[in-house]
Amino acid sequence: MLMMQPRQTQSFLIERMKEAGIRPHGQHGQNFLIDLNLLDLLVRTADPGPKDVVLEIGTGLGSLTGRVAQLAAAVVTVEIDPRLFALAAEELSGLANVTMLQQDALKNKNAMHPAVLEAVRHKLDAHPDSRLKLIANLPYNIATPILSNLLTIEPVPISLTATIQKELADRMVAPPGTKDYSALSIWMQALCAIELVREMKPQVFWPRPKVDSAIVHILPNPAKRALVGDLPFFHDFIRTLFQHRRKFLRGVLVSTYRDQLEKAAIDQILAPFDLPPDARAEQLSVKTLIALSKAVAERLSDT
Ligand code: SAM
Repeated sequence: MLMMQPRQTQSFLIERMKEAGIRPHGQHGQNFLIDLNLLDLLVRTADPGPKDVVLEIGTGLGSLTGRVAQLAAAVVTVEIDPRLFALAAEELSGLANVTMLQQDALKNKNAMHPAVLEAVRHKLDAHPDSRLKLIANLPYNIATPILSNLLTIEPVPISLTATIQKELADRMVAPPGTKDYSALSIWMQALCAIELVREMKPQVFWPRPKVDSAIVHILPNPAKRALVGDLPFFHDFIRTLFQHRRKFLRGVLVSTYRDQLEKAAIDQILAPFDLPPDARAEQLSVKTLIALSKAVAERLSDT
């Protein structure tokens, strides 16, 4: 069966699109992976098996979908572009365990589309004891919201293996005090172990993107998650702090919570952390930011 899947080479893509009278759409991040060894590496890293329900965002022409479908219990794949959806439907027509959705995978920047989650839950229910994995060559423009939002769905995927822009991968693994350390670094590191598996040059895609890419393998960790407490509060908290990353932490907290907390209350919250008066959020470890978020949430719930 695997042998019957078309090989996604540049000439295959050009030919198939020419036949259909279409061109790749830059706006939707349509850069197809044409290095088949890297496609294999992506699949091997994700290691889909008969217990796995796989979510793929961005079907494209269905090349990754077809490979994964040979190995997994079921694949739910989502494609926004009706032209590609139609081509992929032809390529994947023989695969009974593939569910194709033609729509935006996101409801908005902060949430996955409910129809995608419903399709995934349906497949998880249909396969008792199955686990959810994300495997995708993600469109660049939505890689951050997709990966961030999938960490708050129920059930959380056991792994997320994806190609993303290298700069985003660097931000995910960045340590405190570096220029790449951001709300995304903290959110991902607070909830997951993250491995940067392979860096990739633009020429492994057609058409070539302007930037380097990377395969990341993200393993959400339930024990880490339990330490964070209120996830939506923590997410908002770190995003607010990093909107003002160059400002002193105390000042940011005072102005953010000015309607709910006195300056004295902010000082009481900060006292046990023993931070210098000019401390900035960008210097604090993930552990300290989690503790600070909990201390603020607790104080707010007392008011
Ligand atoms: N999986 C294919 C591959 O590896 O060759 C295609 C990957 S390509 C980088 C990303 C795909 O995501 C494109 O086909 C694009 O149309 C689709 N896409 C872009 N934005 C999307 C969105 N918001 N929801 C669903 N699919 C989207």
